[in-house]
Amino acid sequence: MQKLIKGHKHFLKELFPQRRDQFHLLAEGQAPETLFVTCADSRIVPDLILQTQPGDLFICRNAGNVIPRASEPAGGVSATIEYAVEVLGVRHLIVCGHSDCGVIRALMAPQRLKGLPNVVDWLQHVEPAWKYLGEVENNAGELTRHTALTHANVLVQLDNLRSHGYIRQAISEGRLETHGWYYDILTGRIEQFDQALGKFIPLVD
Ligand SMILES: [Zn+2]
Repeated sequence: MQKLIKGHKHFLKELFPQRRDQFHLLAEGQAPETLFVTCADSRIVPDLILQTQPGDLFICRNAGNVIPRASEPAGGVSATIEYAVEVLGVRHLIVCGHSDCGVIRALMAPQRLKGLPNVVDWLQHVEPAWKYLGEVENNAGELTRHTALTHANVLVQLDNLRSHGYIRQAISEGRLETHGWYYDILTGRIEQFDQALGKFIPLVD
């Protein structure tokens, strides 16, 4: 806790005064262009890796960057996405998975989840990722399989997203674009899913 309090003191003393005008403007409302759905993992810091500012990103985080399907009971994720798209009118929705994701490791070794009924239950949203793996990836080493499953999970969650009628409508009306991303913690690089190529490619050269 001490580290956090010290950090907040530094923010109040050194950083807030420099951005006072920006924060005063933001205090009146927000108009983020992007909804960023990513994992709760502490190593993903969206404002750092994208160099975004307060007010830029509407962020929804949970273990495994999951988006439950429309048929599931409404929860925090569904409510957050609905609000972002229908009220804030975000233009872009990014689902971003990442390397070394614990949820994907759990998917690969579910026997480790004894005594974690909520995690086991949550994992059902990720399980369809297995269906995206081909024979080569299924027989590959652990790291390759982990990456393939993480990529696949991003596509699963984008598919889950499209199970919501208002999302399909927003996309068809050109109000919303969706993007599948993968963040590599080791290199700091982001990959994006290229629909035409059917694979993840670097976001920047
Ligand atoms: Zn994760």
